Amino acid sequence: MPRDLAPLDAAAASTPELVGRAAALNAAYRHHSAFAVMSRALDDPGVGAIALVSSFGAESVVLLHMLSVMDRRRPVLFLETGMLFPETLAYQQELADRLGLTDIRLIRPEAAALSAADPSGALYLRDSDACCAVRKVQPLEQALAPFAAWITGRKRFQAGTRAALEFFEPDGPRLKVNPLAHWRPEDVRDYMENNALPRHPLVAKGYLSIGCAPCTTPVAAGEDPRAGRWRGQSKQECGIHFVNGRAVRGPVPQAAETTIQTKADTMTETMPEAKTESAPPAGHRIARDDGFRADDWNAPFEPLANLNEAPAAALDLPSTADPAELSGRLDDTRIIRVDFPSFADGRGFTIAKRLREMGYQGRLRARGLIADQYAMARRAGFDEVEVSDTLAARQPEDQWLARANWMAHDYQARLRG
Ligand code: SF4
Repeated sequence: MPRDLAPLDAAAASTPELVGRAAALNAAYRHHSAFAVMSRALDDPGVGAIALVSSFGAESVVLLHMLSVMDRRRPVLFLETGMLFPETLAYQQELADRLGLTDIRLIRPEAAALSAADPSGALYLRDSDACCAVRKVQPLEQALAPFAAWITGRKRFQAGTRAALEFFEPDGPRLKVNPLAHWRPEDVRDYMENNALPRHPLVAKGYLSIGCAPCTTPVAAGEDPRAGRWRGQSKQECGIHFVNGRAVRGPVPQAAETTIQTKADTMTETMPEAKTESAPPAGHRIARDDGFRADDWNAPFEPLANLNEAPAAALDLPSTADPAELSGRLDDTRIIRVDFPSFADGRGFTIAKRLREMGYQGRLRARGLIADQYAMARRAGFDEVEVSDTLAARQPEDQWLARANWMAHDYQARLRG
């Protein structure tokens, strides 16, 4: 990782005084409920000035609701990375209004740092740690500067790296408070049901842990809720969470790795559209920014292997293709279709981006994506997505149109625009 992208407080070990204070608070609050821990932490002089940090994700509403009951004026820091799902931005607005929270602070990456580190908006494809550093870790560290403590929604059950989570943790120069540390999934569910709290709209679509759109996928039934985050990578944390000033990014335990791989392999059982066939679907339509339209390309797509024999007006590219091999060979190619063989594979986005960087001006079509990935496809350089009739029945036009305003949610585009 470039030095200027290193987490700002990575070198800041907690002082012995802070470590001792966290231990004393854990002893004092050992038998308290989550509600009591949070309530007391807001005003305990041993904790100090405190803010709630919320992603407005799948379970965030629990702490947000607790805070609204205790004191609606307390600061809530919301990291708007520029890569969030449109649904998350809408949910944030909905919760702010419904819960009456009056001090929600949108924290954004610093424009100059973002332009320097991620001018194309595709850093997540090459180096997700660096992307998280510039979009999350650095902005949050700056936003937390006035505070002595911050509240998180982390829980022991969420990951092996959280199995020993305590209510209070020394975290670099400040305390981290985890009121829900001991909650189980059913506690979360019961709290939301008992208080009739609205769910994040993507939960119903299988997203049980929700972060940035490019790095979040749905999970299959029975799968670890966080398996959909950075799927296929060993990365488990965004780097925001530190232990004694160091990001917790330990290796995935052997058993967990096996589980994730196995579940990734079974994704197509629950999401058949994630796999594409070599033959075109029997019926399909094209999704563009203005909605569905009939496919106006009627000529066959040539497989990549045929390009060695003659130029192709329409070319099919597998996600394993190396765009560099196509350099100077696409002058007569009017349309390229890129296959996405599974949710776990983001190489198709890289192919599109590389083709655009190489100067390809023709039409770029993606096949094998779902509506949730439309904005990401457009950012990568695709013009359109081929949608099978089967998928269109499950995800009708309005779901694609909801992502059509992708520029509004593209931080890079807004900066340029
Ligand atoms: S979660 Fe993904 S897109 Fe978001 S900051 Fe991290 S690497 Fe970048």
